[in-house]
Amino acid sequence: MATPNATPFHEMDGWIWYDGKLVPWREATLHVLTHALHYASCVFEGERVYSGQIFKLRDHTERLFKSAGILGFDIPWTVDQIDAACVEVCAVNKIVDGYVRPVAWRGSEQMGVSAPGTKIHVAIAVWAWPSYFSPEARTKGISMKTSTWRRPAPDTAPVHAKASGLYMICTLSKHEAEAAGYDDALMLDWKGRVAEGTGANIFVIFADGKINTPPTDCFLNGITRQTVMTLARDRGYEVVERHIEPSELKTAKEIFVTGTAAEVTPVGKIDDMTFTVGPITQAMMTDYDRLVGRAPA
Ligand code: PMP
Repeated sequence: MATPNATPFHEMDGWIWYDGKLVPWREATLHVLTHALHYASCVFEGERVYSGQIFKLRDHTERLFKSAGILGFDIPWTVDQIDAACVEVCAVNKIVDGYVRPVAWRGSEQMGVSAPGTKIHVAIAVWAWPSYFSPEARTKGISMKTSTWRRPAPDTAPVHAKASGLYMICTLSKHEAEAAGYDDALMLDWKGRVAEGTGANIFVIFADGKINTPPTDCFLNGITRQTVMTLARDRGYEVVERHIEPSELKTAKEIFVTGTAAEVTPVGKIDDMTFTVGPITQAMMTDYDRLVGRAPA
């Protein structure tokens, strides 16, 4: 079960970049009548800093702008300015290995469903965050429980935005899984096919040795997913984007998930099916570690 931070996030110290200025951590607040809080008009990013470098920073910043565009608002900064702000906030907080959280949202000028006149705010926080899953996850794999919630159809929600509203069902799914003793939830798509975890994409390897991953037609095409697909192809593996039925999982040889926070994490169990951490998963973990500079090249 996820435990709260020893220090609540609002009681940490440091600096947060907030609408163009560095403000003391505890003063980076907003009003309760903020549109984003009530109507989920909010997009965000999750980035990792490895040895002082933000991995794929430009890709993340571009996705932040794309997500905002999908939600119908413009971020009042340039991609270069947000990139520079992410770097600055890491430096000023002396975070060499950690997590960066840029967030953009509609403010409190209007309270109602329609709010075209709201000011768009941007903040960037950074903190030390070594591992998303427990350390045993890398050797034994995580356990996942199929969620009762499904990824929405592309005409039901802005599925390609990293939008806060889409995480409502992720939190519900993850709580449901954790309450049943699992690490995470496996979410199916609106048609009942394997989609992804609550914060990570999924890859499934069958006896033919091909690496399968669902097409991202109704969820985020993760930056880590794209990175791992390239690493896998560079190794000579065949990577296939295809729909996977949940009934196929019982014949899977290896399963792993990918995400900025999750990195490459093996899956040891889904519902009552168990999987071993096999050679392809291990190879992808090694290659990803090398790419981010955690292991020698
Ligand atoms: N799906 C969801 C729902 C996520 O929250 C994330 C993490 N951002 C991913 C997939 C993986 O995306 P990325 O590799 O870009 O972190």
